[in-house]
Amino acid sequence: MNKFLNKVVVITGGTRGIGYETARAFLKEGATVVVLGSKKESVDKALQSLKEEFKEAKLGGYYPNLASLESVKADFKKIHDEFGAIDVLINNAGVSDDHHFGDYTEELANKIIDINIKGVLYSTLAAYPYMKEAHKGVVINTSSVVSKEGTTGGVMYPTSKFAVNGMTISLARELAKDGIRVNAVAPGVTYTDMMKAVPDEYIKPLVASIPLARLGQPEDIANAFLFLASDEASYISGEILHVDGLVRC
Ligand code: NAD
Repeated sequence: MNKFLNKVVVITGGTRGIGYETARAFLKEGATVVVLGSKKESVDKALQSLKEEFKEAKLGGYYPNLASLESVKADFKKIHDEFGAIDVLINNAGVSDDHHFGDYTEELANKIIDINIKGVLYSTLAAYPYMKEAHKGVVINTSSVVSKEGTTGGVMYPTSKFAVNGMTISLARELAKDGIRVNAVAPGVTYTDMMKAVPDEYIKPLVASIPLARLGQPEDIANAFLFLASDEASYISGEILHVDGLVRC
């Protein structure tokens, strides 16, 4: 308990799914949590339900355009002004995709690049001056099992997650001198709201292919973020931590 007391944790895409569960996990450990989402309504809704569960918690919410460095920088300045630090940045916002290769358009490619790649880059750039000044900070990106395996279809999604891995490893090297650790968590198929609509006949063979014989839960991913953000992981940087129930060597 209270492992993150007085630490300010910013979570992009914190309004639902893995991000929301991650906000809960950090709040349970006493952190000040700032949830970022795409719209005011979804941010307000998430903040309201977090406030109901964590009555004493220090919470903030913003909805920058993650594809605009100017917008992200402006909101990170407000976060720093309001809470006095940015200790941990969880780059979790992401969009998935399953289009056939021949159906790709410039608009679709840009949508995935904007959120999954530029969103990670711009949020990290916006947090960087504050972490650099404090000479400490943790950035954790959200990759995916597909960054190892690839996919059949939706090629821009794995492409974006390979880019996230590249950014993670390279920034881990470059920012170590500033006291900043950069890691990624790569979830396997995780049971968020979206998955609840997927029929059993798709889920069953999927589970059968996973040695640990279940889908991931958002809590599994949140726990990995907690670990990598904690002092227990103070000697770990540039790691892509797979949380997917698979066994690989
Ligand atoms: P989700 O769709 O439930 O949540 C995505 C979050 O990203 C939401 O909070 C949403 O507001 C935010 N977001 C989406 N578009 C945005 C935009 N334009 N601007 C700002 N925020 C935006 O997804 P999830 O399953 O919780 O996924 C979270 C992360 O985990 C993503 O990066 C995803 O690629 C990754 N991931 C998920 C799974 C899975 O099976 N659920 C597997 C591997 C990786």
